[in-house]
Amino acid sequence: MQSFFYDRATHANQAVGLAQQPDSRFIAGGTNLLDLMKNDVMHASRLIDLNRAGLEAIAATADGGLSLGALARNSDTANHPLVRQRYPLLSQALLAGASAQVRNMATNGGNLMQRTRCYYFTDPAFTRCNKRVPGSGCAAMEGINRIHAILGASAACIATHPSDLCVALAALDAVVVVCGPQGERRIPIQEFHRLPGDQPQVDTVLAPGELITAILLGPSPFAEHSHYLKVRDRASYAFALVSVAVGLALAGGVVYQAAVALGGVAAKPWRIPGAEAPLLGQRPGTREFDRRAAAVAETLLAGARPFKGNQFKIPLAHRSIVRALQLAGRSPGGAA
Ligand code: SF4
Repeated sequence: MQSFFYDRATHANQAVGLAQQPDSRFIAGGTNLLDLMKNDVMHASRLIDLNRAGLEAIAATADGGLSLGALARNSDTANHPLVRQRYPLLSQALLAGASAQVRNMATNGGNLMQRTRCYYFTDPAFTRCNKRVPGSGCAAMEGINRIHAILGASAACIATHPSDLCVALAALDAVVVVCGPQGERRIPIQEFHRLPGDQPQVDTVLAPGELITAILLGPSPFAEHSHYLKVRDRASYAFALVSVAVGLALAGGVVYQAAVALGGVAAKPWRIPGAEAPLLGQRPGTREFDRRAAAVAETLLAGARPFKGNQFKIPLAHRSIVRALQLAGRSPGGAA
C-alpha cells in the first residue's frame, strides 16, 4: 500500500482548495479508488475525504426536476421516493449495478468517476496499457477483448466505461455540476466523459482539482414508460456486456418523445442526436413500432467496429435496443 496524506473536507470549496496541491485525489465511497491504489494502478500523495462535505442532499428543483448530491449513496438515490416516482429509469439502472453492500458505500459522483474494468488496466502485471502507462501500448487489441468497445475506440485504447448510472443519466439528459478554482460550471452528461483518442489516460473533461458537487435532472416525460435492460454474464454483481436505457413519452398511446442510450459499448454512454426520430408518431406494440425500433438500433450501431472477441456485441446490442423499446412501451415503468 502506498503512503499518502489524508485531509477531511467539511465543504466543497475547502475540498477544492486542498486539491490544488499536486497529486491530490478526492475520495468518497472508496469502492473503486482504494482497490486501484492497493493494486498499484492509481496513485496519490494526498487523499481528500469528501464524506463530511455536505454534498449528500437529494432535493426537488424549482423547475420540477431533481438535484442529486454527489455524495448521495447509490442505494439512497435508487430508493429515494422522488427518484422512484419521477425517474424510475435511474432507480432501475442503479439497482442493476454492483451489490447491495457496494451500493451502500458508492456515491453518485464516484460512479461517474469510476475507471474501466479492462483486465489489462486493473492488473499491473500486464505491462502494456496506454490508460495506465501512457505510451506503453494496448494489450487488449491483440488479447482478450470480449468486454471491450465496439464504438468510439481509438488506436490507443478500446476500453469501455463500466457505469450503469451514467447510461440512464445520458437518456435523461442530466447535467453535472462541478466546482473548481474558477467557480462553478455545468457540463451536460454527454460531454462529461471523453472518448480515448490519443489520450486514453484522461477519462473526463474535468480540469485538475475540479469536484463534482451535484447532478441535475430536468423534468422528465419518461416516468410512465422507461426501461433499463442490462445484459451480463451473471444475474448480479457483473458489469454490462451491453446495456440500454430507454425513455418514451406517450400521448394517446403514440410516442412524442424518445431517448435511447447504450452502455458497455464505448468509453462513454453512447447516444446519437436524432437517432430516436423514427419512433415519433408510432404506437408501441405494433409491428411498425418494432420495425422503427430496429431502425433506431441501426443508427446507434452505425460504424461499430468489433474485435475478435466481441463481435457478438453488435447483434446483442441490436436486439437489446429493440427489446428495451418494446418493454418501455408496454406498461408504466417498463414492466413486462
Ligand atoms: Fe489499457 Fe485501454 Fe488497452 Fe485496456 S483497452 S489495455 S485500458 S489501453
